[in-house]
Amino acid sequence: MIRSGNEYRDGLRDGREVWVDGVRVRDVTTHPALKPIIDVKARMYDMALEREHQDTLTYIEAGERKSIFNKPPTETKDWTDKIAGIDTVLQDIRGVVTRVGDETVGEMWSLQDGRDVLAEIDPQFANNIDRHIAAVRDTDVFHVSANTDPKGDRSQAPQEQDPDMMVHVTRETDAGIIIRGAKYETAAPYADQAFLKPTYGAWVNDAMSDYAVGCIVKMGAPGVKHICRAGFAGKGRVEDYPLANRFDEVEALVVFDDVLIPWEDVFFYRHTRAAQFIRGTLHRYSAFPYVLRLMYVADMMIGAALWNAQQTGLDKLQGVREKIADLVCYREGINAHLTASIAMAQRSPAGLLMPHQSMLYAGRVFACSQLPVMMHVARELCGGQICVTPNVASFEAEGSGDWLRKFYTLNQSWQSDDRRKILAFARDLLNSDYAGHRLTFAQFAQAPHFNHLAAVYNSFDFSGPLDFVRKAADLSPRVTGGKGA
Ligand SMILES: Cc1cc2nc3c(=O)[nH]c(=O)nc-3n(C[C@H](O)[C@H](O)[C@H](O)COP(=O)(O)OP(=O)(O)OC[C@H]3O[C@@H](n4cnc5c(N)ncnc54)[C@H](O)[C@@H]3O)c2cc1C
Repeated sequence: MIRSGNEYRDGLRDGREVWVDGVRVRDVTTHPALKPIIDVKARMYDMALEREHQDTLTYIEAGERKSIFNKPPTETKDWTDKIAGIDTVLQDIRGVVTRVGDETVGEMWSLQDGRDVLAEIDPQFANNIDRHIAAVRDTDVFHVSANTDPKGDRSQAPQEQDPDMMVHVTRETDAGIIIRGAKYETAAPYADQAFLKPTYGAWVNDAMSDYAVGCIVKMGAPGVKHICRAGFAGKGRVEDYPLANRFDEVEALVVFDDVLIPWEDVFFYRHTRAAQFIRGTLHRYSAFPYVLRLMYVADMMIGAALWNAQQTGLDKLQGVREKIADLVCYREGINAHLTASIAMAQRSPAGLLMPHQSMLYAGRVFACSQLPVMMHVARELCGGQICVTPNVASFEAEGSGDWLRKFYTLNQSWQSDDRRKILAFARDLLNSDYAGHRLTFAQFAQAPHFNHLAAVYNSFDFSGPLDFVRKAADLSPRVTGGKGA
């Protein structure tokens, strides 16, 4: 089944408890901070129903149309279909959104790869993951990710402080488990459900910890409270902040105040090994769409910098061309990692097709760690005018408008309106509050940098370099090595 945009919106009107700026939101679909991004997600749903896009965004399984984004990948075509689908969506919405479902659903495919670990606890838990993967495919729900607890004082065990600093199970009932705690989650206030799992904490030495819990939480369930950060949409006119006003993906501290998780939604509970498995493999699939979004961010930086240089005639200078080439190298570096990870894809334990793991994770480190540097290259290329140009209201006003039109008209081809537009776009991409937020998003939303590096270390096959140096340095054949040796 493919949902329509309005069916998605209706699903959000489930009485959920959402707070923005200290005020309880009655209807998230009309709130100024949330409406723009909900409209983007609704547009994605509607596109999949449109004749023009349906063959790109959906596939037929057992006679039913389903979203290509929710299809577990088993062959190369599944990945190239997803890439084409994302391109179709981003071209249509004219910007970049990340947490719209395709980038989070893969976390469940990772858990399916560990279904033997789940079956050890209870075969029912292994069945639950199979069923939920199928359910997302069948019902087209918007599924997000809940990993990060407030955590409190990291040097203390959770039991030594307010136990709610990390999500934990407080009791079992016939109907399911009861959880307490909180998680930081992008998009939760306008999603249908989240896959909740633990972050590492001082509980990992305890084989049967109450903190080792993984489950599906319905975002409108009783006891779930979404306390949103302040939004960027609506803080200025769309002409001045064209990205913030359309693509702000709002995060929330999602509080779980004794929330009942029915048994059929529990993946593991009081099982540290299952928790460790999912933490170690979580982004096996979902790192791909995450990094792919950064390639589109790179395209926006190249486009903004080059349009600016063409307007001002600076593109004729070799030095300027070299800086633009630096941006192109960044873009093509991301592209190369993604392309290679699919060309060299690996079979997962559950038979899915994983992007080549160390190639993908190395690409994520490259894309995320170089983003601040590349944003600065683009910012520097755009020049200081991105932060000193007045807002559109001044261009329109009598008195100031004539002066601004005079000084912002460059030549016959470039009139002041297009000059103002590219500068406003570049400001919102590189300099605004929203731009800073998006940079932080790239650094943290799919785990922090140290975690990205750990994924590279754990997935890289060190045997090649070790053997090469064993021979080159003429080491004794008795020497053994490897990770953690
Ligand atoms: C914009 C944004 C969106 C987000 N969206 C989501 C979401 O949708 N779902 C979700 O679950 N989470 C989300 N997060 C949370 C994100 O995953 C966390 O911010 C991240 O895991 C780091 O946790 P923390 O912020 O508590 O940092 P801390 O744990 O306090 O760490 C702070 C810093 O300390 C250092 N550090 C800490 N531990 C180590 C270590 N073991 N080794 C080396 N250095 C270390 C690192 O420099 C680290 O960056 C989001 C965060 C942001 C900023």
